[in-house]
Amino acid sequence: MKFGTYTFQPKKAQGFDFHVLRVKPETGIRLQPAQDMYSNVAVFADNVAACNHPNWISQSPLGPAKMGNNNYNIYWDVVCATQPEHRAEQLNYIADVDRHSQGTWLNSQYFADHGHCTCARCNELWKKSGLSWLEWRRKEVTEYIAQIREKVKKELVLCIQPDPISSYERYGVDFDDLAKYADAFNVVMFSKNYATPWYWEMLARGFKKLLKKPFYISFYVFGPGDNPKDAPSASELLTVSVRCARAGADGFLYLTDNASQILDFQKAAVEKVELRERLRSYGGQSVQEFLDFVANWEKII
Ligand SMILES: [Zn+2]
Repeated sequence: MKFGTYTFQPKKAQGFDFHVLRVKPETGIRLQPAQDMYSNVAVFADNVAACNHPNWISQSPLGPAKMGNNNYNIYWDVVCATQPEHRAEQLNYIADVDRHSQGTWLNSQYFADHGHCTCARCNELWKKSGLSWLEWRRKEVTEYIAQIREKVKKELVLCIQPDPISSYERYGVDFDDLAKYADAFNVVMFSKNYATPWYWEMLARGFKKLLKKPFYISFYVFGPGDNPKDAPSASELLTVSVRCARAGADGFLYLTDNASQILDFQKAAVEKVELRERLRSYGGQSVQEFLDFVANWEKII
């Protein structure tokens, strides 16, 4: 089992196996990659590209993939997944990022959501393909991942939405297709609280059953601009991690804006002595491994 940080700032926290830097999050703003960190790139969710090229935004019968379209779970602008110039630019960018970091973690490497994309180009490509709408979308996503795989010489981790049932219909994502190219998956389970860990454990068990490559789970600790009282508590994060560890996850990442918030989480987790003792009874080896990892933080805080 491996443990990582997932941050928007390049300074590294102590006490983790690896670090993932969000070099291009959905805002589209780009940071320099770091040679001793992995780089995370949001491919099609890209506010900068959408702002510079409004006609690249993904379209659907329920409106465009723009921030504010509440028909979708979209908090940024998403470029059409077949947009050729964006695709080409991202391929080169990903190759460059890969050269200058430990490896590449991608997210948003698929269609914006169900019903996307119905732009003129996508309609034409679909009709020419002779495939059903859903199979055409799957082909578009998988073929682009194959092109990305040729560019990424180091580790390639593909992030997926926490939807084990409908990812094909919503995003054009077929887990078996992606497993051919990915070294691992990262299931992004971001939430401002984990008050009901049962549901997250259930999702983890679903992904354990479906995914043919190892998978990480990413939890939300403290996002940019968050108010501390709106962030998940250390008790919730410890409990949900233990429950997903026993469900078979191969590792965990913890998202914060910067390294000091990781340290705050580590301090708070170390203080939960009673809870950590109780969680020992929650399961076998993987649970013990996670709790031993947290116990190591006692030395660094
Ligand atoms: Zn389109």
